[in-house]
Amino acid sequence: MSLPEKFVEKYQNILGSEADDFFASFKEEAVAAFRTNPLKGRQLSFENPIPNTDWGYYGKVSGRSAEHVSGLVYSQEPAAQMVAQAAAPAKGMKVLDLAAAPGGKTTHLLSYLDNTGILVSNEISKKRSKVLVENVERFGARNILVTNESPKNLAQTFDHYFDMIVLDAPCSGEGMFRKDPVAMQYWHEDYPAECADLQKEILQEAVKMLAFGGSLVYSTCTWAPEENEDIIRWLLSHYDYLELEDVPKINGMTEGIDMPEAARMYPHCFKGEGQFVAKLRDKRRAQPSLLSKNVKSYLKKDQEELWQTFADKYLKVKLEGQYQTFGNQLYLVPQGLPDLSTLKIARNGLHLGTFKKNRFEPSFALGLALRKGEVVQSIEIDVEQFKTYVSGNVLSLSKDYEKGWYHILINGNGLGFAKVTGNTLKNYFPKGLRF
Ligand code: SAM
Repeated sequence: MSLPEKFVEKYQNILGSEADDFFASFKEEAVAAFRTNPLKGRQLSFENPIPNTDWGYYGKVSGRSAEHVSGLVYSQEPAAQMVAQAAAPAKGMKVLDLAAAPGGKTTHLLSYLDNTGILVSNEISKKRSKVLVENVERFGARNILVTNESPKNLAQTFDHYFDMIVLDAPCSGEGMFRKDPVAMQYWHEDYPAECADLQKEILQEAVKMLAFGGSLVYSTCTWAPEENEDIIRWLLSHYDYLELEDVPKINGMTEGIDMPEAARMYPHCFKGEGQFVAKLRDKRRAQPSLLSKNVKSYLKKDQEELWQTFADKYLKVKLEGQYQTFGNQLYLVPQGLPDLSTLKIARNGLHLGTFKKNRFEPSFALGLALRKGEVVQSIEIDVEQFKTYVSGNVLSLSKDYEKGWYHILINGNGLGFAKVTGNTLKNYFPKGLRF
């Protein structure tokens, strides 16, 4: 790998005697890792845990494995795992992930929230927001809304609303050079300064959405001080109510440049790729939330009946939240949100299913979000059956079952619903995901 000349010069100056070790690390392979998903009812044991993390493991997972397809694991390199770990939102918090696709930090934040509070996960690019929705659905959380908005539009709806905001900012991506050398093509000497302008623009909107007393976590996957410490100093000088909090330095993380509270990850010190993370707090006294928690039903009478008939027959849990329809689709929307009518929504909470003529058909997302035992009838499939299931073909079962909907399980975790008649299992695995 041949690094840009100006990049080499710059980091020779910044790192001094450490520079040789830093450049040597680019000759080594990128570190693969993943996190397990605590929202899934059945956990599996994995080897090579990342020290000092709740859910991190070194190693690669295949996108075609049952563990990935059922949302039990999420691939994310170790340095990127330190961002949501620094944020570590408490249960019940209202959290915003402002630049969220493909969803690494979002799914990690969901792990901390444990189906409490609200996560608004936003992605400005429509195409990327679709990938985000897919990853969020697989993770199976019930308390998330995915928006496809500019930070400016979002700020008009969420006035000082969030207890925590995570901005994993678009950046010059130097920390990705080893994992994805294509990132080098975009790099030029002035690129970090250009990115810094965009980062400030986004942060100006972010602060408008932060509740008094809230936390702002800022991260990039670059080492450029212009996009890291300089941005934090800019924030502190423009918003005097913000103060820095310490990010604990674990696993070889180093202090920010002249900023001991912030954390840097260099591949010659930390087993992973490049990352910067800082945590700020709004010093002003928190205000009580004024949002009503009233739950209204937006369903028509016949829809209410169809859903209730389905829920009574098949579900053992009551799903708390606001039931809303969009066309003939039924969603469970998290409670306590402001009026969202001016926003582009990519996923309106948890998709429960579709109203068809005289019946309700459960969604794939619902089958991923429910745990074993939360559905009256279930069928556990094995690895061979999994291959047929994900290809979209009909499965022949070893015995006859009573006709109806069944929760399909792999390793004890939900993988959608299927309709069974006799010994034939009709596949509802989404067409776009089949392989
Ligand atoms: N947090 C993500 C994760 O962990 O999977 C990675 C986010 S990536 C570093 C930065 C994101 O910022 C990209 O998805 C990009 O589309 C988005 N972005 C680009 N320009 C933006 C802007 N002006 N405002 C907000 N987001 C922007």
